[in-house]
Amino acid sequence: MRKPIMAGNWKMYKNPAETTAFFEKFRPLVEKAEHCEIVICPPFTDIAAAVAAAQGTRIGIGAQDLYWAKDGAFTGEVSGPMIKASGCTHVLVGHSERRQYFEETNETVLQRTIAALEAGLTPIVCVGERLAERESGETEAVLALQFKGGIALLSPEQFARIAIAYEPVWAIGTGKTATPEIAADAHRALRGQVRGHYGAAAADGVRILYGGSVKPDNVRTLMAQPEIDGVLVGGASLDANSFASIVNF
Ligand code: PEP
Repeated sequence: MRKPIMAGNWKMYKNPAETTAFFEKFRPLVEKAEHCEIVICPPFTDIAAAVAAAQGTRIGIGAQDLYWAKDGAFTGEVSGPMIKASGCTHVLVGHSERRQYFEETNETVLQRTIAALEAGLTPIVCVGERLAERESGETEAVLALQFKGGIALLSPEQFARIAIAYEPVWAIGTGKTATPEIAADAHRALRGQVRGHYGAAAADGVRILYGGSVKPDNVRTLMAQPEIDGVLVGGASLDANSFASIVNF
């Protein structure tokens, strides 16, 4: 059985005081949620507040990005060891907004994934097709390219320590959720890639989350798909009640 991961991506929202206030509301709402792992990825500037507020709970804190060097003259960047030392357990890698606005490629996503693993963090590696690619029937080819050009270059031991998030770009922040069937098809295609490359045990073990306009009212039908091993939630993770409803689907 794959234990679901219910992850929130706060993007560039909230300051430390707002983070503390969120956790005060959120903690009691999810204290019985043993069916899943909960991860919240706030901006870097909120990590200390989030780690302090999540202490003594099962809520993991993740960063939204990392740079692959351990340290050095890289103004503005933050490394895996720094994120780990701040109390994080997870890190998002290759989010479509990073790919779209900050020129991340499959190659740099791979470098970041390896750096996260070396720092002892669990990378949640994001993949997904754009609208034009879906409309021209290229979804599976795009996912295969993102897999083969990126995470397929990990060793089997490294691969066993990552989670994948399938996030169709056309569904992120648009209110357009993929239907559970569309999401499950994409997850099956991705798991097929994993099976072909790393074998059956790796394919059965890897957790593939769905992300894209997940809300309290659609999470249940998504999570009813055996292929979907959790969700990565943007907008609806900013409100404690809404994200708690998603966690407690
Ligand atoms: C995301 O940021 O990864 C995301 C899926 O956003 P939203 O839930 O707002 O579509």
